[in-house]
Amino acid sequence: MKFNTKTIHAGQSPDPTTGAIMTPVFQTSTYIQASPGDHKGYEYARTQNPTRDALQRNLAELENGKHGICFASGMAATDTLIKLLKPGDEVIATNDLYGGTYRIFRTVYEKYGVKAHFVPMNDLSEAEKLINPNTKMIWVETPTNPMLNVIDIEKFAALAKTHGVLLCVDNTFCSPYLQTPLDLGADIVVHSATKYLGGHSDAVHGVIVVNDDQLAEDIYFLQNTCGAVPAPWDCFLVLRGIKTLHLRMERHSDNGKAIAQFLTEHPKVGEVYYPGLHDSPHYAVASRQMNGYGGMVSFSLKDDSMAAALKVLENTNYFLLAESLGGVESLIGHPATMTHAAIPIEERRKTGVVDSLIRLSVGIEDIDDLLTDISQALDH
Ligand code: PLP
Repeated sequence: MKFNTKTIHAGQSPDPTTGAIMTPVFQTSTYIQASPGDHKGYEYARTQNPTRDALQRNLAELENGKHGICFASGMAATDTLIKLLKPGDEVIATNDLYGGTYRIFRTVYEKYGVKAHFVPMNDLSEAEKLINPNTKMIWVETPTNPMLNVIDIEKFAALAKTHGVLLCVDNTFCSPYLQTPLDLGADIVVHSATKYLGGHSDAVHGVIVVNDDQLAEDIYFLQNTCGAVPAPWDCFLVLRGIKTLHLRMERHSDNGKAIAQFLTEHPKVGEVYYPGLHDSPHYAVASRQMNGYGGMVSFSLKDDSMAAALKVLENTNYFLLAESLGGVESLIGHPATMTHAAIPIEERRKTGVVDSLIRLSVGIEDIDDLLTDISQALDH
């Protein structure tokens, strides 16, 4: 089955009892048993739910993996992956990554003895220096949030294999339409499905996809034991959102590229960060490992002040000022005070998150309206 068919059909078939074409929302907490242990494969809804099962199968197929395991949020999925580790274990993570991921490593798991190192991953050198027998996981986010650096997944997969550590890739910014990390050698893919997978800003959701059966068993165990499972209704919404993933991602990429190009030519704009620009240092790797460049664009202003950034942030009409990304509607955000406020100011500035940095999640509206909107906001 090709990708565009998988989005609609993979993991689902019409309901056998009614013929309903859409997977029903199995809004139930438990299932009857004819006799103790004599059931239809479903005992209790934290452990199994048919709506969730359909979504898990669908996501596994989209990522070209064997097992999809869903969670109540992207952070619940991330939390589960860190719980695979034990005190004394170390993780090497991208230094420019989602602020919540940084926060969970630093403020929750450090006190349980799991140590995370945050390094630039434009090449292998910094990560290689830190690898030691305690290193158990390399955590890559690509393109990075919010600087849109592209990390070479194949190179990091080779490094991880050489040292016998797991490579985990946060694929939230790409969705499996733009990038399938397992095909590039990663062991684990994690998503905030709240973003492009759901695509309509109406559900908070997370997923992990893996190939290895033992790893999948360990993650299923944590899903059931710790219980951060998604509600059936949210599984339905994500499953429905995915049916148009391929169409949305094409438009996100077209609009993202047009906005990035426009910004490079604007006199008030400083730097533009978008891997699809021909002169981006990330263009070559992005072209090799991604199928398009996506809808995330970051830029700074020549006047690098908080006040200048606020003028733009407060004056857009279609780019709505809000946290999050990946929905059909365009969003504008200020990493320094919003998504990345959890990262200490020195760390943040080191990675390029300056005061005037603005992040756009370019939606699928008409590009003329989006260009007019960003242009008039910059005129302020
Ligand atoms: N990973 C990335 C790249 C994100 O941007 C986010 C949220 O913004 C998360 C993980 C966390 O996902 P959630 O908000 O669904 O918990």
